[in-house]
Amino acid sequence: MRFDIITVLPDLLTSPFAHSILQRAQKKGLAEIVVHNLRDYATNKQKSVDDYPYGGGSGMVMQIEPFAKCIEYLQSERDYDEIIFMSPDGQTLNQEIANTLSTKGNMMILCGHYKGIDQRIRDIYVTKEISIGDYVLSGGELPAAILTDAIIRLIPGVLSDETSALSDSFQDGLLDAPIYTRPAEWRGHKVPDILLSGNEAKILAWRDEQQLQRTKERRPDLLND
Ligand code: SAH
Repeated sequence: MRFDIITVLPDLLTSPFAHSILQRAQKKGLAEIVVHNLRDYATNKQKSVDDYPYGGGSGMVMQIEPFAKCIEYLQSERDYDEIIFMSPDGQTLNQEIANTLSTKGNMMILCGHYKGIDQRIRDIYVTKEISIGDYVLSGGELPAAILTDAIIRLIPGVLSDETSALSDSFQDGLLDAPIYTRPAEWRGHKVPDILLSGNEAKILAWRDEQQLQRTKERRPDLLND
C-alpha cells in the first residue's frame, strides 16, 4: 500500500513514520509513505502557495495550481484509489472507515493549512474528505498521520501478533477489556484472580463480560448501533 501525502510542512511528518510499527511496516515493504512538499510545485519565485480569500475575510486560502500540478504529476505515475482531503467538515474517522481504507492500494492525502484550500480542489480532485474529530487543528499533517497509522496497523503482517488488531476496541463494536501485567500485586492492588487461574475458557468469558460492561458504561451508543 502506498501513501502520497501532500503538505507545506513535510518536516512535521518525519517523526510519526520513523518509529515503531509504522517504521517496521515500511521496512517490511508492506507500506510505502512518500511526503511531497507542496512548495516544490509553487508557480512563483517566492514559492508561496496561498492567497487572500475572494470576498474578503480572515485567513489565507491555499491555491489550486500547486495542488493540481502535484496531484496530476502523481496521477501520471500511477493510479490512485482515493484522493483524501483532511478536513474538519469531512466524515468523522472511525474503525470502519480505517478497515475499508486498509484494503486499498494507492492513496493520496492532502493536508490543508491556514483557512483551508480552494473549494475547486475539493470539487475536482478529492474523492473522500475525512475529519479526525469535531475540533479544529492548525494543519492537516497530524490528522494525516493519524489516518495513516490507523490504516497501516490493519495491513496483514504489520502487527507481529496478527490477531491483536482484531481484538482492539471498536473492531467488534465493543471497547477493549482491562489489561494487566506483572507484578500480580502492587501496593495492595491485585490483578483479578481469574487472569491468574490459567483457565482459558473462563478468562475469555471474563473478557467478553468486561468488554460488554465497559461499553455499556462508557459508550452505550456503540451498543445501540
Ligand atoms: N477553516 C476551516 C479550518 C481550517 S484548519 C474550517 O473551519 O473548517 C486548517 C487545515 O487543518 C484544514 O484545511 C485541514 O486540512 C486541517 N484540519 C484541521 N482540523 C482538522 C480535523 N478535525 N480533521 C482533519 N483535518 C483538520
